[in-house]
Amino acid sequence: MESSTKNYNLDKCREALLPLGAITNAPMREHTSFHIGGAADLLFIPKSTDELVFALNCAESFGVPVFVMGNGSNLLVHDRGIRGLVIKIKGSEAQIEFDDEHCTMTVSASTLFSVAVKRSVDAGFMGLEWGAGIPGTVGGAISMNAGAYGGEVKNCIKSVDALVKENGSYKVKRFDVCDSDMGYRYSRFSYPEFIITGAEFTLMKDDGEAAQRMAEYTLKRTSKQPLSYPSAGSVFKRPVGHFAGALIEQAGLKGKSVGGAQVSELHAGFIINTGNATADDVCRLIKLIKEKVHDESGVMLEEELKITGG
Ligand SMILES: Cc1cc2nc3c(=O)[nH]c(=O)nc-3n(C[C@H](O)[C@H](O)[C@H](O)COP(=O)(O)OP(=O)(O)OC[C@H]3O[C@@H](n4cnc5c(N)ncnc54)[C@H](O)[C@@H]3O)c2cc1C
Repeated sequence: MESSTKNYNLDKCREALLPLGAITNAPMREHTSFHIGGAADLLFIPKSTDELVFALNCAESFGVPVFVMGNGSNLLVHDRGIRGLVIKIKGSEAQIEFDDEHCTMTVSASTLFSVAVKRSVDAGFMGLEWGAGIPGTVGGAISMNAGAYGGEVKNCIKSVDALVKENGSYKVKRFDVCDSDMGYRYSRFSYPEFIITGAEFTLMKDDGEAAQRMAEYTLKRTSKQPLSYPSAGSVFKRPVGHFAGALIEQAGLKGKSVGGAQVSELHAGFIINTGNATADDVCRLIKLIKEKVHDESGVMLEEELKITGG
């Protein structure tokens, strides 16, 4: 469809953002860990908060819809892609500072969470080792309240800096995090209400074994997860009293394929892209898994994966 036939002016938005490096018709398979998805009309990776605000204002003045993402490691983008502007908050350089006296780490949302985890251990702290190998950004980890091996962002975060709109203009505000702000794979600091720009984490002095723990968690991941195939990690949330992977395995679905999408033989909670999977293949496989697991166990699985576009 021509942009002139829509009720927003993509061309004007494109004109303003191309000089800053925006990409037209960006294939989302190149921006997601699943390696699936059609093109975004326009994709922009801001290099600063000022550029982020400029892009948001620009989209708004031309009525262009916006979607905010991090590293695309929990996303399934539809085969028809994403209309409007995708803003990818992921930096090429980590922005991290430590306060030794107060045992805190301040980090930009665009930094890879795994890099922040490793740096915290290198700097003599512990508390985030469980996050080694989670392939998202700090912003994505906060938005999803990422967790593993008994740890989760919720238990280590002190405050979140996020862009919010007040009286017609965007402002970065600091929010002290309280218990009800985050739950299992949920955080109130999520797009579209909040665009996370940074956070402060509370750490502890290393007990001398943080590096060892990080290595053990990394080994667990590499031996138990199908990391040689593109995926978006665990597709389903853990149902109360069960494990999604075990229910899927018990329903006889390990290795089950729809087109190029397959339930991993190594970890049934993962759907892998065996090479040429479409978003439609993944959606059909998700539907089939949910129906079969419900028939066999009475449990209705719920997606952890975020599905967008179309
Ligand atoms: C191999 C593999 C292993 C994984 N293991 C784990 C694991 O152990 N534990 C776990 O919890 N997850 C795991 N994941 C899933 C994924 O890595 C996490 O959910 C991660 O936190 C997502 O971060 P992201 O930057 O990729 O976010 P994206 O996938 O880009 O986005 C996810 C959501 O966050 C929102 N969002 C992203 N950035 C911002 C921002 N700056 N402001 C506001 N909202 C934002 C998006 O709008 C979207 O709704 C795994 C994924 C893979 C591929």
